[in-house]
Amino acid sequence: MKLLFILLFSSISLFAQINFDDYFTAGALRLDIIQAGTASSENIYFHSLKREPYFSGSHHNLIDTLNLGYYCFYVYSLKDNKLIFSKGFSTLSQEWQTTEDAKNHNRALNYSIRFPFPKDSVRLVIKRRNRKNIFRELFSLKINPGNYFIRKETVDTSMVFKIHYSGDYSKKLDVLFIPEGYTENDSTKYHNDCKKFAGFLLGYSPFSEMKNRINIWGINSYSQDSGADIPGKGVYRKTLLNASYYTFDSERYLMVEDYFKLADVAASAPYDQIYILVNSDKYGGGAIYNFYSAVAAQNKKAELVFIHEFGHGLAGLADEYYTSDVSYENYYDLNVEPWEKNITTLVHFEKKWKSLIASSTPIPTPDDSIYYDKLGAFEGGGYVAKGVYRPTYNSIMKSLSANGFNLPSKNAIINVIKYYSE
Ligand SMILES: [Zn+2]
Repeated sequence: MKLLFILLFSSISLFAQINFDDYFTAGALRLDIIQAGTASSENIYFHSLKREPYFSGSHHNLIDTLNLGYYCFYVYSLKDNKLIFSKGFSTLSQEWQTTEDAKNHNRALNYSIRFPFPKDSVRLVIKRRNRKNIFRELFSLKINPGNYFIRKETVDTSMVFKIHYSGDYSKKLDVLFIPEGYTENDSTKYHNDCKKFAGFLLGYSPFSEMKNRINIWGINSYSQDSGADIPGKGVYRKTLLNASYYTFDSERYLMVEDYFKLADVAASAPYDQIYILVNSDKYGGGAIYNFYSAVAAQNKKAELVFIHEFGHGLAGLADEYYTSDVSYENYYDLNVEPWEKNITTLVHFEKKWKSLIASSTPIPTPDDSIYYDKLGAFEGGGYVAKGVYRPTYNSIMKSLSANGFNLPSKNAIINVIKYYSE
């Protein structure tokens, strides 16, 4: 009991002492990085620094307690060597490393890290989990906020509009819907799509119970052409973000590769999460934790894909399916408990949803219809049929035919929304 008390006390004191105004001022500092490597190697390179008008995260929760994502960046104040900010994330580059292609050649992709603009010099460190889920340092940089190479161009914020507003952006989860492949002539369609997806999100549990903690923003940024690239069909469109199907040669994987371009567009609005609405009716989408989410907005299943992808983008939820054309070989090490909240290898199941399972439900849970509406540990998930377990027989993270998120996924989403809105 005494030990527990000391541990609790010390962890509280660690996180409670960061007073936002002691270390940060208005706006955000954006660090653009290049990630390059192969299946077995990775390097991160400095690209540039920018000042942006909005930092929309919590001024209270500055140190990441969610512990999600393959990477985490840490900002230390140089004057007192204190950790003053941290945030977990994943990237497209990390996914690329798991593809067949990455075994044969090098590739570089980009990402932008953002944190509140510091008052004094800081050291930024990026760490990545190894196969055993232990964070190792990959990159370090000293940043003097007075450096004249930090670009401070004025950002036009006039084209931003509110879709759902519940209050000050530093106290809410801010979701930004960016239009991709909508021309000026499609602007009414984009505004209607914004309303449609916002309505669906705010009507879907657990978002429906947390509406008053969420803001949704839109931005009038249009493309020369309608639609998106479909390389496998020889279709190329000149659009705002150059979104493309066939990412990593998977037809339905619809993503934007140039993150700097995306971050430039997003800078006009307050945002914690980017959602790219792609003006296409061809089935597709994709999302990566604290990277962005994307959906083909005109497809007839778009609303369900939208929710599924946001589970990845917002809360780092894993795919619970294991029979499909998506074949990531050995994506999870079966001897390690994955960081995602909605799958388990049973290695440290007590850290997941084990305590929520009824004592009458066996673990692992048999594939028997008497358990199909129960919380359990069903084998199959995370792209493999054996060794990875999911909480329920079906869920929106497994199949679009499902009724909703399961309890561990809901709890993960609720935690993230609270984190941004406290
Ligand atoms: Zn998915």
